[in-house]
Amino acid sequence: MFQIDCPWCGPRDQQEFAYAGEAAIKRPENPASLSDAEWADYLFMRTNPRGRHHEQWRHVHGCGQFFDVVRDTVTYRIESVDVPGRPALGDAS
Ligand SMILES: [Zn+2]
Repeated sequence: MFQIDCPWCGPRDQQEFAYAGEAAIKRPENPASLSDAEWADYLFMRTNPRGRHHEQWRHVHGCGQFFDVVRDTVTYRIESVDVPGRPALGDAS
């Protein structure tokens, strides 16, 4: 168990949050120009690193907001919590 520092609510147990996938996945500008393999790659292929990972989380049992987290998948240490489109809010460890 670990804590996540929600940008709106402050530190809460991880059980209040839901993992929402890899962060910063950008939709292709012209999907019609992609091959089926390229489109499938965009839809389904995600990194699964051992170590530092950029993730999106949602505070489902709190404010309901989405935000980005940089977390070490081995140690669970959270390096930072950021709101997409805003300047970095700082460390959340
Ligand atoms: Zn919250």
